[in-house]
Amino acid sequence: MTDQDHVVFTEIARTADSFEAERTDLRPRIFDEYPGQERVVENLKIYTQAARLRGKMLDHVLLHGPPGLGKTTLAGIIAQTMECSLKITAGPVIERPADLMGLLANLESNTVLFIDEIHRLPSHVEEVLYSAMEDGRLDVMIGQGPSARSVSFDLKPFTLIGATTRAGALSAPLRDRFGIVEHLDYYSPESLGLIIRRSARLLSLQLDESAALVLASRCRGTPRIANMLLRRVMDFALVTGKQVVDTDVAEKALFRLGVDTRGLARMDREFLRIMRDRHDGGPVGLESIAAALNEEKTTLEDVYEPYLVSVGYINRTPRGRQLSALGSSHLKEMEQMFGLNF
Ligand code: ADP
Repeated sequence: MTDQDHVVFTEIARTADSFEAERTDLRPRIFDEYPGQERVVENLKIYTQAARLRGKMLDHVLLHGPPGLGKTTLAGIIAQTMECSLKITAGPVIERPADLMGLLANLESNTVLFIDEIHRLPSHVEEVLYSAMEDGRLDVMIGQGPSARSVSFDLKPFTLIGATTRAGALSAPLRDRFGIVEHLDYYSPESLGLIIRRSARLLSLQLDESAALVLASRCRGTPRIANMLLRRVMDFALVTGKQVVDTDVAEKALFRLGVDTRGLARMDREFLRIMRDRHDGGPVGLESIAAALNEEKTTLEDVYEPYLVSVGYINRTPRGRQLSALGSSHLKEMEQMFGLNF
């Protein structure tokens, strides 16, 4: 094993460990424990059932959508349903073609390989996947110059599940090799209510119905944020000696966390404020906003902007981002309610 291999495998072990650690608490293990994304879940249930009936591996799956919506969780559920083992890695840690070749060649039979942020695989690495996905084969060049020759060998059956926050960033040859492509969208408050009640039950937290609704409407449609808010509300209840989390405890905890009435956090409001105060509402390029926020443009693009667009606070125009009237009035309302420093 080279140092580089070691890095890749360590990363796999690390992500797999954190996956396992979380699994013991809140991560759903089967489709029926996974509320929301009904259409995606129905489709995946059918595809996994059909693959099992055929006695074959599931076709390769691409899951795309904003972070924290349950792509990794679904990969775990698919592996469980298909009775396969699961290996987890991420695009940015696979730097060389040899890393990916080593990873694929070492897969046990019937493994689900989950590559998070697959759009960040370098293109010369990504090419290794083409024949692996299409023909279950690896083509390796041996030697250099005129004496170089290509040797191919068969891989054990595997299913690749790629996750990405940006399907558009994937090259066409890679995208076309996924037989199943599903998009995950923000969750409805009803689904989030189910997720929050389930998580509260698993954490042995007494949460009253109205507090569950408050959290469900303030987590930006995202289960990861819902679970994070729930844990922080739990801390708040513990420290203030409350046995049951009611609306009052939930509201106070959310205020402390800087989460406003629509679930926006400080960074979201800063995003809107920069557009309003420095650019007269826009249109303004994302680079300028990123520079003012001291944040990576890709983080704004993947993490913050999609939700602000989905609630109609920002419009994307060909000339840049524009603050909408809705966004502007929300910002004003929050400033009047909680002050400029909230
Ligand atoms: P992603 O891979 O899309 O970033 P994850 O699968 O890591 O998201 O999910 C983030 C968190 O949200 C995990 O704690 C997971 O348990 C929880 N989660 C995601 N989707 C659901 C769901 N449908 N039901 C319950 N919990 C969920």
